[in-house]
This record gives sequence, structure tokens and C-alpha cells, in this order.
Amino acid sequence: MIKYIDEIDIESKTIFIRVDFNVPLKEGKVADNTRIRAALPTIRYCIKNKCRIVLASHLGRPKGKFQKSLSLQPVGEELAKLLDTDIVFAEDCLGDGVKKVVQDLYSGRIALLENLRFYPEEEANDEKFAKTLASYAEVYANEAFGTAHRAHASTYGVAKFARQKCAGFLMKKEIESLSKLLENPKKPFIAVVGGAKISGKIHVLNSIIKKVDILIIGGAMAHSLLGAKGFNLGKSLSEPESYPLAKGLVEEAKRLGVEILLPIDVVVSSSPDDSSFEVVNVDNIPSNKMALDIGQETVKLFSEKIDKAETIFWNGPMGLFEKPPYDRGTRKIAEAISNSIGFTVVGGGDSVAAVQSMGLSGKFTHVSTGGGASLEFLEGKKLPGIEALEI
Ligand code: ADP
Ligand code: MG
Repeated sequence: MIKYIDEIDIESKTIFIRVDFNVPLKEGKVADNTRIRAALPTIRYCIKNKCRIVLASHLGRPKGKFQKSLSLQPVGEELAKLLDTDIVFAEDCLGDGVKKVVQDLYSGRIALLENLRFYPEEEANDEKFAKTLASYAEVYANEAFGTAHRAHASTYGVAKFARQKCAGFLMKKEIESLSKLLENPKKPFIAVVGGAKISGKIHVLNSIIKKVDILIIGGAMAHSLLGAKGFNLGKSLSEPESYPLAKGLVEEAKRLGVEILLPIDVVVSSSPDDSSFEVVNVDNIPSNKMALDIGQETVKLFSEKIDKAETIFWNGPMGLFEKPPYDRGTRKIAEAISNSIGFTVVGGGDSVAAVQSMGLSGKFTHVSTGGGASLEFLEGKKLPGIEALEI
């Protein structure tokens, strides 16, 4: 069993919160503050409870070395703006300076540590490093769902040394929403999966197929299934080495009585940089062209099923959505899902980015902040960051 932050006594205590502030930066400023905003309910709750709050996160991949461009300082500035308060930036994760910053914190005030991954000990789940992080506070809270699938010092090792441990509100929302997909989802339950590669998502496909009534596959991922069926794909992105995986999935679907829907028409062009295109049936892809999006007939086919679903999980764009006009299929499917009155969850870095850029986030029941973490959760794997909170 794990406890959520509102189930333990945190009043006037020092709390160490592992947040996921791994945000995109542009010219030294936070380019998208979604992940920071996602942690605000927990931070505000701690302020209300007069806690002394120590926040820690990783940012990017500094590979265990200090890198000025990956400092959390701009993140601290953004957080200060969002909360309209001062934040103490500790400039490090270890050392007497950090200890002093924490000791000198007033109740209701926040200190932000420097990028945890400036230390190789973080990703190595080093015991001493974990112990030091735990020593800063009386309570450890994990709010970093996006890194919950990693057993790092701040997400895993630290919990062993924590006097009290719990999950924050964002973590709670992620666990509850994703669990709903796995435990008695309302039927019909449809998974819409797209993206680039089938090999990277075969585990989640093999797992989700046991839960859904219909599996809709689009994007380049569908090419591997079409290729396995013998369709000529031209220059389209596909993984011939994964055709056996694709065939296995189709057989499993048959065995379980799950319907798999694939694109019936696609938007083809000579290259991703060429915006002139034509729409062809999947049995008619010219050998010098590549499929970059699903076609209108496919959008119609998929949307009709989506309209009737009670539960929908979506991961993976339907095409090369970064390059208009090849974003249309993804846009239409995102709209169809967001118009559903059912329980709708979107997960995955690119899919969530697509939903956000279309301004549709508010129309999904849950927009998962975890890419890899949400997929591993749906595979039924125990995530180390959640497991470590077990009491
Ligand atoms: P997510 O991050 O949501 O899990 P993925 O990383 O699996 O999604 O896949 C996203 C990528 O797949 C995007 O970069 C998108 O351009 C690419 N993609 C989808 N369909 C196609 C296609 N038909 N051709 C080329 N790339 C595609
Ligand atoms: Mg991605």
C-alpha cells in the first residue's frame, strides 16, 4: 500500500519533494511550464501546511557533470513567478551550503536544489547520495511520475532512508487514471496507438490488447502491420524486422476476439519536406512515395468507432504531425477523442505535445505527464518510483 500526501501528517514538517521539472528551455528560459504547473497543487498544499519545502528534479541529460545550460535556475524563476513568491535556489544538491539553505528555510518557504543529474550518483542509485537527499527532510514525497519507471537515487534509493514517505497529488492522479484503464474499464474500450515504431511499443500493445475491445493502429506503426500483411509500402517508414511481432499481435487479437483497425487510405508524398501530397488506398502506395499521414477515409473509420467508445486510451501520433500538412490525421483523431463523453486518457511525449499544441488538453479526462512511465504502467510493470513508496 502507498500513502498519498493528504493521508499523512505533514504539518510544519520539512518535506523533500522529488518533482519532474524536466522542462524544455529556450534561450535560458522555460519554454513550456506544463510540468511545473502540474506540481503546483502539491506544493501549494505543503505551503498551506506550513512545511519547509525542498524541491529536487533532473533536467535533460547532463551525464553526471555540471552543465550551465541545464541548470534548474530558470525553472526556479518560473516557479517563483507561478507561485508569486521567492524561491531559494540552492545551486547544488550536496554539501554544507545546501544543508544551510534547508536549515535556514522558514515555514511555508521553498528551496530548489540544482539538477540532480549533475551527479552520476543520481542515475546510479548511489546509496550514499540517496541517504543525503533523505537527510534533508522528515518527509519524502515523490511527485515525479515521468521518472517513476527509473530506479534512481531520488526516485528509489531515497525512499529506504525516508522517515515518512508518500506520493503527491499528481502521482495520485496518474496512478488512479491509468489504473482505471487496467481495472474494469467501461466498455467499449478502445486503444488508439500510433507513432514511429512497433518494436518500442510491442510490450504495451501485447498487454493492452488483453483489455480492449478494439485496437486502432495508425501512424508509421501501422506500416509494419500492413507490411506484414504483404502490402507494398513504397518508401514509408517501417520495420521489416518487426513483421513477426506484428503478425504475433494480429494472431493474439484474433484469439482474444479483439478487432484491430488499420488505415485504409494514407497521405503520400515524395519526402517529409515536400508538402505536395496525394491520398491513396493502402494497396496503392507508389514505390517512390512514402505514407506520412492517415487519409480521410481512415479518419472517418477510426472516428466512428471512437464516437461509440466509453473508454479511450491514446498513445502515438497518426502521422508526421510535426510537419503540416501531415498533422491533419492526428488533429482529427485528437478532436474525435476529445469530443468523446467517455473516459479519455492520452499518454506519450509526442502525443501529449500534439494535444497541447492543438489546445485540446482540457478536453481529455487525463493527460499523462509520463511518456515511458505511463506505457510501462499500462504494461502492468511495477514502477520503481511507486514501488519504493510501499509501506
Ligand atoms: P509518443 O511520444 O507519443 O509515444 P512516438 O514517439 O512513438 O509517440 O512517435 C512519434 C513520432 O512518430 C513522431 O515524431 C511522428 O512524426 C512519427 N510518425 C508517426 N507517423 C509517421 C509516419 N507516417 N511517417 C514518419 N513518422 C511518423
Ligand atoms: Mg516520442
